[in-house]
Amino acid sequence: MARRLSQLAQLPVTQLKGVGDARAGALGKLGVHTVLDLLTYYPRRYLDRTNQARLADLEVGEEATVLVRVVRTTTRRTRNGRSLVTTDVSDGSAHLQVSFFNQPFRERQLKAGTDVVLFGRLEVFQGRRRMTNPVVDLIGDRTGRIVPVYPQSEKAGVMSWDIARFLDEVLDRAGEFAEPLDASVRQRLDLVDRTTAFRGIHGPESMRDAAAARRRLAFDELLQVQLELVRRKRELERTAVGIAHHVGAGSGGPLVERFHQRLPYDLTGAQQRAIGEIVADLAEGHPMHRLLQGDVGAGKTVVAVSALLVAVQGGHQGALMAPTEVLAEQHHAGIRHLLEGFTVPDTDEGNLFGGAGLDRPLRVALLTNRTAAGERRRILADLAEGSIDLVVGTHALISEGIAFRSLGVVVIDEQHRFGVEQRAALRDKGSGEAVPDVLVMTATPIPRTAAMTVYGDLDVSVLDELPPGRTPIVTRWAQGELDEMEVWQQVRDEVAAGRQAYVVCPLIEESEKLEVRSAQEAYDELTAGELSGLRVGLLHGRVPAAEKDEVMGAFRRGELDVLVATTVIEVGVDVPNATVMVILDAARFGIAQLHQLRGRVGRGARRSSCWLVGEATTPDGEARLEALVRSTDGFELAEVDLDLRGEGTIMGERQKGRNDLKLASLRRDREWVVTAREVAMELLDADPGLEHHWLLAEEVDLFLGEDDAEFLLKG
Ligand code: ADP
Ligand code: MG
Repeated sequence: MARRLSQLAQLPVTQLKGVGDARAGALGKLGVHTVLDLLTYYPRRYLDRTNQARLADLEVGEEATVLVRVVRTTTRRTRNGRSLVTTDVSDGSAHLQVSFFNQPFRERQLKAGTDVVLFGRLEVFQGRRRMTNPVVDLIGDRTGRIVPVYPQSEKAGVMSWDIARFLDEVLDRAGEFAEPLDASVRQRLDLVDRTTAFRGIHGPESMRDAAAARRRLAFDELLQVQLELVRRKRELERTAVGIAHHVGAGSGGPLVERFHQRLPYDLTGAQQRAIGEIVADLAEGHPMHRLLQGDVGAGKTVVAVSALLVAVQGGHQGALMAPTEVLAEQHHAGIRHLLEGFTVPDTDEGNLFGGAGLDRPLRVALLTNRTAAGERRRILADLAEGSIDLVVGTHALISEGIAFRSLGVVVIDEQHRFGVEQRAALRDKGSGEAVPDVLVMTATPIPRTAAMTVYGDLDVSVLDELPPGRTPIVTRWAQGELDEMEVWQQVRDEVAAGRQAYVVCPLIEESEKLEVRSAQEAYDELTAGELSGLRVGLLHGRVPAAEKDEVMGAFRRGELDVLVATTVIEVGVDVPNATVMVILDAARFGIAQLHQLRGRVGRGARRSSCWLVGEATTPDGEARLEALVRSTDGFELAEVDLDLRGEGTIMGERQKGRNDLKLASLRRDREWVVTAREVAMELLDADPGLEHHWLLAEEVDLFLGEDDAEFLLKG
């Protein structure tokens, strides 16, 4: 009988010959408790003896894996009291000096005569070839042409060769592994079978074997995630009862059409397409569950308001949730402005499709934690009674005790900040049985493969077109004093020409207090120096609400020339007359944030510019700033971001726990993510309950266990 992974998950590692309680304890520290954990504890590298670097052939600056024997190891203290272990090693072709700072245990580990694998960069120091703090792996006397190198832990006392030895036994005793994937799929995708894959990843005959094994096992991981996401999505479509909204025969219904007619511009093709997709969803009986992706300034607000109006014209209510109070307030002001003068029938039904009736103004309310108690009480009563049509707010919207008369559409404007649980809670706010329709908007684009994984249970609409008439923003990186003089000169020139500017102060993640202080300092310095004589306002997180409104209002009205601010202005602020964005210490910000900030200018017909100020202190920081200078396309920048940061930060909270991708990478395996999704859909279309693929179903449960799946999918 072939082994199923679920069976191996039942076997503690103590079942292995070489593993007693002490060893099991040590493995436990690496997160390895069962035989399955061990089997999926993958090598981080391979030592390829068929193609091995000789010390004598290494070039200075080159990074390489070398197999060497320790000749001599000594320890001394450096002047500042740190330990310095120096080891002389050789591979027969040459000698190398290896230095370890602050790793005193190396003296015990690297006894003369020990064979070790080093991974590091060759440098020259005082005329001698050496490596500093290389990765050291003890592979023992492993023979074979390709030696797997496992993540080891000196602290737990588990070395690479221990793991290799345990895995020898596992593979030996396991024999064949059960194959969950149809032969036809394997063939089509050119995938090796499971047994070959597990043997190939732990004990490849060649690097090609190792690559083929990785390919198969990475695909399995991605397929499991997609099966779960697509299964949930389909289940929701089948079972959840939503509202089949009236959308009329034309382009969305009477209120939506009136809204579009009264806009001072025509919708872009992309906006029309997205609204069409949303309207079609809303007309369906099952709840919408859609993601709206669009670049900064692509016009997502109009699309969101269209969706909300579909609910209102049918006598339901709409809600928009923003990640921060500032944003909620801005959305509220913006939406009220867009809907000024709109009326809805004042009937019990409140339904625009019904007959005539007296009209009343369409009501848009704002509800945040800053809403005063009395006002809040009134809003809650009116939401329950139905005389508020649209409500804009923060998380406060989903707190206990808020009831809607009939919540029809929810828009969530999220900046990777809304928790999945919060989204789920808002969905539960639907009246009676019906689940409200949900539209999630991203503030800036996220890469397609990440969207497929993080939001894989959602349908996706994309705004891939900016409204016409925008002049591209010129982005420059100011390094050094000469450049900086040019920055401030340009600010003064633009102000002299009647335009306005933003100055964004350095991001200080550790402390809001420090950030506020540095903003205050920047303000003081600039007003006394470079920007003296100009009308300058200051905005940061500690400015009281009333004053904030006043400053924002003054800037909007053109009564301030320059706004010095922290990232509170990151999203949503819309002042077309502002043409310069100066970002101080720009290397501290992430790509998405910089792109978002830059999007505050270039909103009018004038040519705008963005200055990134300051040196980059890391190669990544440099790469980020260079990317911003090179491209204004948010989708392209999102891909760069994924390359630079890896998926960890993008997946964020959603990918904690067992469902971590161990081998697969959203970055390296972009194509695979797409394929895995296609295969998942294909399988579930033919076999919705996976009854004919029960092994696959079992593995999805195993790796995305109840809790993890809930976690992954609550969105
Ligand atoms: P974002 O997608 O970043 O949320 P917004 O919805 O804030 O973008 O829109 C950005 C700006 O573009 C706003 O000033 C809005 O009035 C304007 N806008 C939106 N759609 C169009 C359009 N089709 N034509 C011209 N301007 C538009
Ligand atoms: Mg917006």
